[in-house]
Amino acid sequence: MIATGGTIAGQTTGGQLTGAQIVAAIPQLTDVARIEVEEFSRVGSSAITPDHWVRLSRRINEVFDADADLAGIIVTHGTDTMEETAYFLHLTVETSRPVVMVGSMRNSSAVSADGPANLLSGVRVAVTEEAHGRGVLVVLNDEIHSARDVRKMDNNRVDTFVSREWGALGIVDADRIVFRRAPGTLHTALSQLHLMPETTELPDVPVVADFAGNDARLLRAARQNGARAIVVQAFGGGRASPAVREAYTEIASGGVPVLLGSRVPEGRVMGSVRGNEAGLVYAGDLPPHKARILLMLALQRPANTAELQRLVDTH
Ligand code: ASP
Repeated sequence: MIATGGTIAGQTTGGQLTGAQIVAAIPQLTDVARIEVEEFSRVGSSAITPDHWVRLSRRINEVFDADADLAGIIVTHGTDTMEETAYFLHLTVETSRPVVMVGSMRNSSAVSADGPANLLSGVRVAVTEEAHGRGVLVVLNDEIHSARDVRKMDNNRVDTFVSREWGALGIVDADRIVFRRAPGTLHTALSQLHLMPETTELPDVPVVADFAGNDARLLRAARQNGARAIVVQAFGGGRASPAVREAYTEIASGGVPVLLGSRVPEGRVMGSVRGNEAGLVYAGDLPPHKARILLMLALQRPANTAELQRLVDTH
């Protein structure tokens, strides 16, 4: 188990438990697995950065490489950016063994804290043979979600994680773990977006949101600040304000790839519907903040927009 912080480690007094303390508070874990704990960081997930992603991914690969008998790895993490870290690991961890991310919505001293149950469920999933080959999993509230599909949908409640369009992969029941589907895109051992050994810093790819009456100031500023690619969080279907459309067309024809995503949570953004303009990439069903991660990895090496589109469509 690699502990990174988050509410699962939080206490009402404001302190943070270590990973070892979180595990020690759940005696039932010893019936399921022998757990070794590594303290990676102790931060709320709003402070997680691409640098954490790179180090965490490399560490997970290293730990798997060093121990052929290791069943799986649990990552405890705050829920706010868990889906981003999970998707990054889904694309970069080179294994078919389970990597399971676990967090909680209530801190460890809250009445009815959900962390202990979530961690116990996560460990049960990680030691399940059927979890192999399903990529990085997010386990909360007795549900098993794919890193690619899951999103935090509620600011407060324990059933915050939802895979709206495609549904959860499975559930954690009292008697056993039940899987009902597997991700249909490339990930982990079969991903074509692994971290390159020489990568120290990932390319800068900001997400710029559209809104009614947008004059495209922020989009142009992103370009002027040297972005390697830009994700536009547009409206339904990838439609954008007139000024934003004009700005992204200029930016894309100047050689900086622009990916059109949508702020609407369901349904694909399709290039054929938007006219497949030169220099543009279309998010499909990836939300903007996950499409950004894919581009950051893809642009470790030069890639044209056709290649970027192929990677979006397959991962
Ligand atoms: N503040 C928390 C975080 O680290 C929220 C949580 O974990 O639920 O994301």
